[in-house]
Amino acid sequence: MTSAHVLGYPRIGAARELKHAVEAYWRGELDRDGLEASGRELRARHWQAQCAAGLDLVTVGDFAFYDQVLNVTTLVGAVPARFAAEEEIARGEVDLDTQFRMARGRAPSGAPAAACEMTKYFDTNYHYLVPELHEGQQFKLASSRLFDEVAEARAAGHPVKVTLTGPLTWLWLGKGREVEFDRLSLLEALLPVYAEILARLAKQGVEWVQLDEPALVQDLPAEWRSAFEFAYNALRSAPVKLLLATYFGGLGDNLQLAVSLPVDGLHIDTVRAPEQLTAVLDNLPGYKVLSVGAIDGRNVWRADLGALHERLANARMRLGERLWIAPSCSLLHVPVDLEAEKELDEELKSWFSFARQKLDETVTLARLLGNRGNDEDRARVAAATAALDARRASPRLHRPEVAQRLASIGDAERSRDNPYPVRARAQRQTLDLPLFPTTTIGSFPQTPEIRAARRAHKNGELGRDAYEAQMRDEIADAVRRQEVLGLDMLVHGEAERNDMVEYFGEQLDGYVFTRNGWVQSYGSRCVKPPVIVGDVTRPVAMTVAWSRYAQSLTERPMKGMLTGPVTMLQWSFVRDDQPREVTCRQIALALRDEVADLEAAGIPAIQIDEPALREGLPLRQGEWQSYLDWAVDCFRLTASVARDATQIHTHMCYSEFNDIIAAIAALDADVITIETSRSNMELLGAFQDFAYPNEIGPGVYDIHSPNVPEVAWMVQLMEKAAERIPVERLWVNPDCGLKTRGWTEVEPALANMVEAARELRRRY
Ligand code: GLN
Ligand code: ZN
Repeated sequence: MTSAHVLGYPRIGAARELKHAVEAYWRGELDRDGLEASGRELRARHWQAQCAAGLDLVTVGDFAFYDQVLNVTTLVGAVPARFAAEEEIARGEVDLDTQFRMARGRAPSGAPAAACEMTKYFDTNYHYLVPELHEGQQFKLASSRLFDEVAEARAAGHPVKVTLTGPLTWLWLGKGREVEFDRLSLLEALLPVYAEILARLAKQGVEWVQLDEPALVQDLPAEWRSAFEFAYNALRSAPVKLLLATYFGGLGDNLQLAVSLPVDGLHIDTVRAPEQLTAVLDNLPGYKVLSVGAIDGRNVWRADLGALHERLANARMRLGERLWIAPSCSLLHVPVDLEAEKELDEELKSWFSFARQKLDETVTLARLLGNRGNDEDRARVAAATAALDARRASPRLHRPEVAQRLASIGDAERSRDNPYPVRARAQRQTLDLPLFPTTTIGSFPQTPEIRAARRAHKNGELGRDAYEAQMRDEIADAVRRQEVLGLDMLVHGEAERNDMVEYFGEQLDGYVFTRNGWVQSYGSRCVKPPVIVGDVTRPVAMTVAWSRYAQSLTERPMKGMLTGPVTMLQWSFVRDDQPREVTCRQIALALRDEVADLEAAGIPAIQIDEPALREGLPLRQGEWQSYLDWAVDCFRLTASVARDATQIHTHMCYSEFNDIIAAIAALDADVITIETSRSNMELLGAFQDFAYPNEIGPGVYDIHSPNVPEVAWMVQLMEKAAERIPVERLWVNPDCGLKTRGWTEVEPALANMVEAARELRRRY
């Protein structure tokens, strides 16, 4: 037979039960027992789903009340000192509230403390809590949760496989608290705890443990590669079988290393890296299981079961029963259940597969390869083939005019008419801005009234006219407040937008939205990424009426506000039948028309937000340049239609530019605003060293801080900026995110910011 399993299943629940339970617990509306009970119920349900689908093993260890990496961090007792958990660690039981304090800074019990850093897990939109490490750190088995969950699953009669972040990837994802140091120096102290965990699992009757080591699909320094050998040699005597799981890409130059580690099985991702299958087959020692990740764990498309069956027949022939079938990675990254989509039309539904459906696909593929296919399996293959044939032929996918337009785009459409210095002169004339012009990043407080109106409008309780009238009032209010504050370049405030991707996706053809397609982003937070199903076009202008109205209210320049093509792509599920860059160019052309229309409507400045540009970087550095090339190209396609006098802004909310500064400069935006307040202007060094030629607005205060920033503080920061960037090219603005604040915080802070700009003008 061919075994079927998954690397992990979404824990959030089809109706986001986990979110609701955890948040109720945080609010004090659900007690600890209630929270634990809801966790148990979800686990039981998810194991039952795996069992009912016919998987040969159910996966334990993928559940977390907050984050699976944090689970390992507490399991090995790596709780930073400020959470005062020494006693809990000594007792071997880190409390759930301690975990919550590590994740969010506070919990129903225990003293608040600064939360641990959170960042994206590899190239996904899932955020994990960064293990905080320090030199000489000690580890100790400090939680029994995992073992309790194993006991639960076994009590329910399931054949259990345990999943756990592997020791190297856990260290790889970690960071020195204050100072960076050699994290590998901790390996020797860490391994005995892993060995202890494995031994305890073996005692519970667990046969297989899957150690997730996706670090193996990245560029690893030589010491890290040898550390893999060292670590897995040390763990080889563990009384369980180890499945080394790699995903999100190909093993590349780590292939020899990965196949030769002394473990009992290897999982590879053949969705992202189909080409590695043959090389792995050729090199895999004869005793090892190979788990082939053939079903896409990162996207929502239905699998082509017939084609996969054919493609894997050779692997089955070579491996026999040593072939296992699985999704490419944990199903954490896809929505839970397609059946919950009651409003999606049947055609679209027939193209998709969510986590629950991917279980069936995995089982069917495994049964077919193991010559155990039954009528149900054959029916599933036939249905998949029919749906995919229909999808390929569907007019919803292809609009010939889109391909034609893309083909007709040449170099002229990829550059502004003139270089920046010429444009800057034209812009100075139309905009008439002072030195150190002030602006904001686009959004203003999404007040309870705004949210209530949008909800009522969506539910059909508030008609379109009334809703729009209310949004216009909000815009007018925001414009008035900005004028009173004395800001130089205004924004309309984005009152009408729910979310920066959804708002545009809803108005573009080629995008579809699910009702329930929630995916965990971090902790209790879920996102519902839109799905790009077909060629993207813009039937009508999307933002022009709002921006024109806002501009009509003021003499000051109004900045139009768009989400850039790379971010529109990155934060969506993307079609798998053409390269990502083609889809991105289509979005770019649609947005280009919006830029042209905004300009024609008299909007003198347009901001194209690209917060996701950096996170789109491939996991392998060797692939960075080709990604950056097309990402930059897409931005330029969007922006270059603007005349010289129209000022193009872009915005990126992060603070690491050193390695992509050339690409940032190649965007050729007239102004870039970035997040700097917390880095003391040091990150401007990257711009200075590169001799970045255009204008920059470094955020001068952290909008998340509850304190009103002081004038002198912001003046001093901008003086630091002026040491690095010529003052004629500096803007004064906050970091992004004002929509998450209230006006009572925003107004005094911006008043001080405007005062700081006035003071700077006196000094320079
Ligand atoms: N214009 C958006 C805002 O101000 C930008 C959001 C972002 O950078 N993520 O909210
Ligand atoms: Zn931002």
